[in-house]
Amino acid sequence: MATKTLMASCHCKNIQFTVAVPTESFPLNVHLCHCSICRYTHGAPCSFHAPLPVGVEPQFIAPSSLNKLTTYKHPASTATGYFCSTCGCQIGGVDGQWVITPAIFDANREDEGIWKFNAHMLPTSAPDGGLAAVFSVIDGHRMETENLGLSPQAIAGSDSQPPDPKSKELLAQCHCGGVSFTIARPREEFVSSPQSKGWISPLDESKWLASMDLCDDCRLVTGTHVISWMFVSLDHIAPRLPKDLLIGSAKGYRSSKDVLRVFCGTCGATVFYHCDGRPEIVDVAMGILRAPEGAMAENWSVWRAGRASWPENGMRYHAGFSRALIEGMQRWGAERGHPQDFEIA
Ligand SMILES: [Zn+2]
Ligand SMILES: [Zn+2]
Ligand SMILES: [Zn+2]
Repeated sequence: MATKTLMASCHCKNIQFTVAVPTESFPLNVHLCHCSICRYTHGAPCSFHAPLPVGVEPQFIAPSSLNKLTTYKHPASTATGYFCSTCGCQIGGVDGQWVITPAIFDANREDEGIWKFNAHMLPTSAPDGGLAAVFSVIDGHRMETENLGLSPQAIAGSDSQPPDPKSKELLAQCHCGGVSFTIARPREEFVSSPQSKGWISPLDESKWLASMDLCDDCRLVTGTHVISWMFVSLDHIAPRLPKDLLIGSAKGYRSSKDVLRVFCGTCGATVFYHCDGRPEIVDVAMGILRAPEGAMAENWSVWRAGRASWPENGMRYHAGFSRALIEGMQRWGAERGHPQDFEIA
């Protein structure tokens, strides 16, 4: 049987594997899963997963091996998830059959006809619909929505701690609960200080700025095509974070000389991006936010809707997806009163 070999690698390259896929199995269906398990284990607005054909498994390239991955299993799911122990990149999991993330196949990014984004899975898990409310057509193909016959209550039941809609603070917590903290609204003294310049929108000074990010590094440490960040002043986070930002089960990884990434060492969720050049601000991975309104956390954020960060990276990796996201955010933002553009300091 003719096969085509695809090649995957996480950001730090400690995990590298190939998959030999029968050519008749292309394109591989990709679904975006919006369930709270996926959001809280990835730190992203949703997961991106492609089930492999029966019998096809990743072949790890030495010295990389399945043993070098961290395993995450929990009672709410029969699946076993795997992520890189060094950079935190989610690579997929096994639930009888292998499911891989299509976000880490840079070696094949020029190849056409490999992936078909065919469904939004469990979009009602986030009351606002998350990215399922932002776009539904990719490469001219309309995505299906699939709730797997589950009620919203049943889907939300996977939350270890349901969000409190009256809370004055916003809880951020990875799936395993090993990383947990709260975010306060911008305080008067911060808003009126020069430090807030470029970090608070005059449209609404009670919220933090938020942006979609298509950068290659973010994709490869998270294992998702896109991540959303909320830009928060460190002194608004409780408990006060240590200087290295390693709270609870968190692990750190430098993706470049001046950029520290933080992820949960137990469940793999992306938690923070921090750049040495702006020490007082931390980018919080919005997928771990427990905003009752949903994945877009609109009661807490002013979105830069007209523009994703690093669009050229996204367009080079997967033009169809990136275009759908960017155009979808422009439409979504215009309908919901978010600004199309502002400079992020
Ligand atoms: Zn890695
Ligand atoms: Zn899911
Ligand atoms: Zn965790």
